[in-house]
Amino acid sequence: MNKYLILVVEDDPPVRNLITTTLKTNDYRFLVAANGESAILEASSHNPDIVLLDLGLPDMDGIQVIQKIRSWSNLPIIVISARSEDNDKIEALDAGADDYLTKPFSVEELLARLRATQRRLSFMTAEMTAADSVFTNGRLRIDYAGGCAYLDRQELHLTPIEYKLLCLLSKNIGKVLTHTFLTQNIWGRSWDNDIASLRVFMATLRKKLEPEPDSPQYIQTHIGVGYRMLKVE
Ligand code: CA
Repeated sequence: MNKYLILVVEDDPPVRNLITTTLKTNDYRFLVAANGESAILEASSHNPDIVLLDLGLPDMDGIQVIQKIRSWSNLPIIVISARSEDNDKIEALDAGADDYLTKPFSVEELLARLRATQRRLSFMTAEMTAADSVFTNGRLRIDYAGGCAYLDRQELHLTPIEYKLLCLLSKNIGKVLTHTFLTQNIWGRSWDNDIASLRVFMATLRKKLEPEPDSPQYIQTHIGVGYRMLKVE
């Protein structure tokens, strides 16, 4: 039996059935909520490990559900949104969602997102608490206290903004960070030209970090949305 308990928030019965059937056949435990109010109730009373959240709910916006849950918990929330709702997706990530899945999605995609979130959960508890001032991921090592980053033993010569970007991404490993989140944290604002600058800094950071910048291992681009640091095995 899988030890993870998933809260499925979806008002559309066929989609909900697809998700719960997938979870059942893969030995996940799950709870179901068909609207925002019961989602919040289930999340607070059963303490699930991961929430799968549809944004278009009958009684309230999924964004409100995220905000409510975030007021007391950091539990991972994977948003499920339709392709046409690109701005909703960004808004959801900014409100504190961890990841998103675009409708229509495949069963394999859903399972991959769940596994990635589980890896992130165990990574957070194991490695981050063991040495909370040093972060390691594959060949990358960041000494937060010393303010230095290394690839193998070689120090990376990063500008202050590149270093800050790397820290933001590493401290949120596995999570998609939106352009707005990143520019707000770096410059305290999010103007169009800040997002353009962000792309430039990200490109120079990648050139220093990625062995093959054309097929990045560490930093994944989500076009029109933001960036995510991947866990490198
Ligand atoms: Ca819906």
